[in-house]
Amino acid sequence: MSPAVHSIREPESFDPERVKRDFPIFEHATDPQRLHYLDNAATTHKPGAVVDAITSSYTQCYAPIHRGLYPLAEQATSQYERARRTLQHFIGASSPEALVFTASATEAINMVASGWLKPRLCSGDVVWVSRMEHHSNYLPWQRVCRESGAELRFIELTREGQLDLDSSRELFAERSKFIALCHVSNVLGIENPVAALCAEANEHGIPVLVDAAQSVSHLEIDVSAMGCDFLVFSAHKMFGPTGIGLLYGREDRLADMEPLQVGGGMVDIVGDATRESCWAEIPARFEAGSPDMPGAAGFAAAAEYLAGLGREGVRRHIASLTQFAAEQLRTIPDISLLPHPELPSSGIVSFTHRSLHPHDLAQVAGEAGVAIRAGHHCAQPLLNHLGLAATTRASFSIYNDASDVEALIDAILTAQKVFCE
Ligand code: PMP
Repeated sequence: MSPAVHSIREPESFDPERVKRDFPIFEHATDPQRLHYLDNAATTHKPGAVVDAITSSYTQCYAPIHRGLYPLAEQATSQYERARRTLQHFIGASSPEALVFTASATEAINMVASGWLKPRLCSGDVVWVSRMEHHSNYLPWQRVCRESGAELRFIELTREGQLDLDSSRELFAERSKFIALCHVSNVLGIENPVAALCAEANEHGIPVLVDAAQSVSHLEIDVSAMGCDFLVFSAHKMFGPTGIGLLYGREDRLADMEPLQVGGGMVDIVGDATRESCWAEIPARFEAGSPDMPGAAGFAAAAEYLAGLGREGVRRHIASLTQFAAEQLRTIPDISLLPHPELPSSGIVSFTHRSLHPHDLAQVAGEAGVAIRAGHHCAQPLLNHLGLAATTRASFSIYNDASDVEALIDAILTAQKVFCE
């Protein structure tokens, strides 16, 4: 159990201005007033505490782990395993063995698709994904289905953009073998009812993978309460480093999963030539090669930082800022919000403009210091369904406040002047 996580006191109120001071990028920007970073769904900035944890891992605690017998190697091993336990408590998992460090959320999904589902999938089986998935939670399932002769089906959306569970009645039918869906959509900001869906899937014996890449930075994740079989996310979207992510898997599921990569550190007994080898226990079995120890230290520091801010305060801040952004955007007559103007959305607003192309809008905004995203957001099945080639997306985080929303609105009004008058 990580003492650091348990000693955290929930602060009484959330103060984005104070939080912003924890992030060196806002000090180092040449004109701090001009960095309105609203591309948090793509990646988040790093607080000093995370950068310090990575630096001190390299400068004070760096040695090969799990093998060295000298004190520095033992310290490095303890730091790595402590990071796993910190993340275990962060997501409410019952044991550290249920957590596998991966390179990213994308890698974690591929591991489950190829290592768990593929060996079990037969022609005629059905795998479900929602219509709003990121390509990372779509293509791995598309590939295993194609290779196995199984059918990949969409849980479609209502007109308001929510999962249409009524028209997906076959979701829990006998042929259904797996469900993969996001907790929060990276385009619509819709929060899916994952716990209810997991409960029903569980009753029918259908495993569920939840992609928490877009929720982990501002919604409390408790895998035990959620009841999912697998859950994935990346550190870089929750203030941690790039190049490291997490796969949570129920221990019985992981015990039945084939490792995607084989090599050093994941094997107990290596057979000669054609003989079989015997894999190490979980989770080492899934962490072949030398792991990213400083990355794990930074990942754990990000979880501690976030927990220290108080997750309920973070959730409320993001919800009210998203709501404020939606209200402000609605005052511009040519803007249409996706998916539905009245629907609350979680940290993300996507919109189209009657006469402005998303790329033009994002470029003018960029020149005004407002970092937003334009494009299909790696969600082509959703954009095709909506009949759109691209949207403009603003996504909010703990260091944003109303001034960032105001800068976004000003930038849109400027773009209208440049392109439409
Ligand atoms: N799922 C969702 C919902 C995402 O938004 C992203 C990243 N945009 C991913 C998965 C993939 O994350 P990564 O690129 O860190 O593997």
